Amino acid sequence: SSRTLQPVSPPAPGFNRAEKLSQPGTEFTFCIVFVKGLFGVSELSTPAGFQMVQEKALKETEELVEQACVTPPGPQTVKIFDKLSDSLCRVADLADFVKVAHPDPAFRHAAEDTCMTIGTMVEKLNTNIELCTSLKHLLDNKEIMDSLDPETRRVAELFMFDFEISGIHLDEEKRKRVVQLNVQLLDLNNDFLLGTNLPNKIAKKSMLENLTHWFSMSGDYIYVNGLHADSPDDLVREAAYKIFLYPNPEQLHCLDQLLACRNQLAHLVGYESFAHRALRGTMAKDPGNNNFWFTDHIINRTSFCRTEKDFKMMEEMKTKLNPRNSVVCPIFRYNIEPSLYSPFFSLGACMEGLNLLFRQLLGVTLHAEQPEEGEVWSEDIRKLVITNPFLKCCLITDVLLWQAVVHETDGLLGYIYCDFFHRPDKPNQDCHFTIRGGRLLENGEYQLPVVVLMLSLPHPTKSSPTLLTPGMMENLFHEMGHAMHSMLGRTRYQHVTGTRCPTDFAEVPSILMEYFASDYRVVNQFARHYQTGQPLPQNMITRLCESKKVCAAADLQLQIFYSVLDQIYHGQHPLPESTTNILKETQEKFYGLPHVPHTAWQLRFSHLVGYGAKYYSYLMSRAVASMIWNKCFLKDPLNRAVGERYRKEMLAHGGGKVPMIMVEGMLQERPSMDDFVDALVLDLDFNFETFFMDSK
Ligand SMILES: [Zn+2]
Repeated sequence: SSRTLQPVSPPAPGFNRAEKLSQPGTEFTFCIVFVKGLFGVSELSTPAGFQMVQEKALKETEELVEQACVTPPGPQTVKIFDKLSDSLCRVADLADFVKVAHPDPAFRHAAEDTCMTIGTMVEKLNTNIELCTSLKHLLDNKEIMDSLDPETRRVAELFMFDFEISGIHLDEEKRKRVVQLNVQLLDLNNDFLLGTNLPNKIAKKSMLENLTHWFSMSGDYIYVNGLHADSPDDLVREAAYKIFLYPNPEQLHCLDQLLACRNQLAHLVGYESFAHRALRGTMAKDPGNNNFWFTDHIINRTSFCRTEKDFKMMEEMKTKLNPRNSVVCPIFRYNIEPSLYSPFFSLGACMEGLNLLFRQLLGVTLHAEQPEEGEVWSEDIRKLVITNPFLKCCLITDVLLWQAVVHETDGLLGYIYCDFFHRPDKPNQDCHFTIRGGRLLENGEYQLPVVVLMLSLPHPTKSSPTLLTPGMMENLFHEMGHAMHSMLGRTRYQHVTGTRCPTDFAEVPSILMEYFASDYRVVNQFARHYQTGQPLPQNMITRLCESKKVCAAADLQLQIFYSVLDQIYHGQHPLPESTTNILKETQEKFYGLPHVPHTAWQLRFSHLVGYGAKYYSYLMSRAVASMIWNKCFLKDPLNRAVGERYRKEMLAHGGGKVPMIMVEGMLQERPSMDDFVDALVLDLDFNFETFFMDSK
């Protein structure tokens, strides 16, 4: 519901300037964009600008609410709703990003205030009876509804859905209570997220002396701020695990409150549990009766012995490395030496690899642009302009992109800001942010989507460019999958732009990119040594791809365990036991490794906030992506016709179509849930030799 409603500030001037693209084929040329202020929003040249932008959005909201209430039911109703949503989202989404990523705390705080104000406004609108009534008049009018195109109808229903889960049907007092709970949840979410990152401290004297230098120290204390999973010393990893996951009573309390508050909200608006409320409208639809049906389904079709084999192997590896300490903690890594690969994965080579892939598959190219001073928040951000050189010839029959052609954007599809490099204070989490959604404007132009990709890559040095480990390369491909979902979306409404689709479908395009990133035919195109230009030797690519299968069963089991845990936390309340005891039981039952006493991993499970009751989305999306990869791309991952089908059947629609219908269009057959799960399980058995023969 937080993204129900969003705002329109004027399109950033200079964004659509044709002269930037007047030299076709010149990739990575630099052009000046004549804009000032973050993302080209002129007010945002100072933190105080957030106040102005926010007030403007609120004023516009007021006008649009009024307009919605006096407009007779018809397609115009949906347009006004979407504009209203755009007005608020545009500010909220931008602020959402700035509050976590801006290096200047003054900007971050201003953005945080704006998020709170707009968020509160959204909750109020979601319980605004008059506004809802105007939409209801449309939905109740069968004749008008039947005359609408399917996307408009779906968006109307989605807006109604937001009212429903906000308790629009309740009496005034209860509705007020819903808003209160939602606002309270905004705070609890923030507090919990902060807590997931807080370091734990321990007295210096209680740690083995030869370990202390791995951690930061202050006074008599040692501070542990993460799991140190990359450390080669297993005693360091163990110490970090036990200290970092030691339960913090405040955070425990915060989680209890958060879960209770969510449960209360769900009950108040008429759902059995928060999970029931969260899963409505997703591919999974509902949590099921006793256990979560989706994970049960996977468990029934896999055998635990594969996972046990993985654990055994890990244990043997550990015993070999350190015979005194063979306890396996639930942390996984690639089993290859990343530094052997990095020289072949310079950032430039990887970007070129993406560019090649997109050009071959989708007819889309990436152009680097130089942002204007003040437009970005840090020196090292590059803006990529996405264009489609075949736009004119291939889109004549494509209604969805027709408007973009009329707009004479010369193929310009949207903008990706690449915030790729590590900075102090920047969250160490790869992420895709929608800053502005695509939508059809009243004048027939298309509002181009704007997104940010945030990574935490090392800076280039004097002697070498930024070199990516295989894991970083895969993440880059993953995030670019989200970006392309946004860029190629051509929905009429921003409410369903790009990644604004059901959560358990949203990871499909990004996970699909991970398959491309592990395919010989794709990697071979771009992996070149940054000094010698030599391609990555075939046997190394083979090993790289094979390594991803190592512990795949255990990794799947881990994801199942997280998904089940998330479901239980958001299921029937009061919870039968403390969150820690539930963690312990669930881990032992679904993962198979014993719980380490006096640890509470759930307090670091930051995804509980953003994905509450939907953590399984990752698994669901992987199952769908796996099937699409196997059925459509495995034979030839660079097939233009299949790429075109992918764009038209899936990417173009964002959340404007029911996911299953999009998937059916892509697969050209109707899959069952068993088919998806089978694809997921089959991945564990992936036979590399078959693959290798296929790739010749
Ligand atoms: Zn993702």
